[in-house]
Amino acid sequence: MLIIGPPGAGKGTQAERVARFYDIPAISTGDIFRANVAEGTPLGLQAKDYIDRGAYVPDELTNALVLDRLGQDDVANGFLLDGFPRTLAQVSTLDECLEQSDSGLDVVVQLAVEPEEVVRRLLKRSADQGRSDDTEDVIRHRLAVYQEQTHPLIAVYAERGLLLSVDAQGPMETVTQRIHDALDGAVLRGSGAASAE
Ligand code: AMP
Repeated sequence: MLIIGPPGAGKGTQAERVARFYDIPAISTGDIFRANVAEGTPLGLQAKDYIDRGAYVPDELTNALVLDRLGQDDVANGFLLDGFPRTLAQVSTLDECLEQSDSGLDVVVQLAVEPEEVVRRLLKRSADQGRSDDTEDVIRHRLAVYQEQTHPLIAVYAERGLLLSVDAQGPMETVTQRIHDALDGAVLRGSGAASAE
């Protein structure tokens, strides 16, 4: 499954909780990039400037990283991608990768939040965690990039019948419960139980 939404929607937090529940790995491209930056790896050195500016890391680098991660053994029973795909080119890469392994996406969870709420949350995170890309200017740039490059993906997955849109405003536990409720409904539809009623 994928979890998709603007910066500050709570993707990382919710992805970890949902992945733990389903006992699958949560794969965050942002976390992988940040770990590489912290360790000073060649990938980290290449990615750092983009991340600090709030720009997307080029597709070639990001796709290579994800293909490598999806080739590891622990994804055999499923995975939750947080922060990938973010561009239409990344959607194609993921489609091809899943096709090759004869698998596919079950569901795409969209975390929906108002833009003002997102800025408020990210400024708070900046005070708590000191992330280099959580300054107000960079936050606004990241939101603009999301709107332009990633928001169109929601229509793509909606058209495929994979999208579950969840209201991501409110307490963290409430949002997690909404995600579980939405996923339970989707599983019901998938099993044919709903149509049998
Ligand atoms: P995140 O932790 O998901 O907010 O990601 C932090 C930063 O990592 C983003 O602002 C981008 O610079 C970079 N990044 C993470 N995922 C991707 C992706 N799928 N494509 C391009 N850049 C990414």
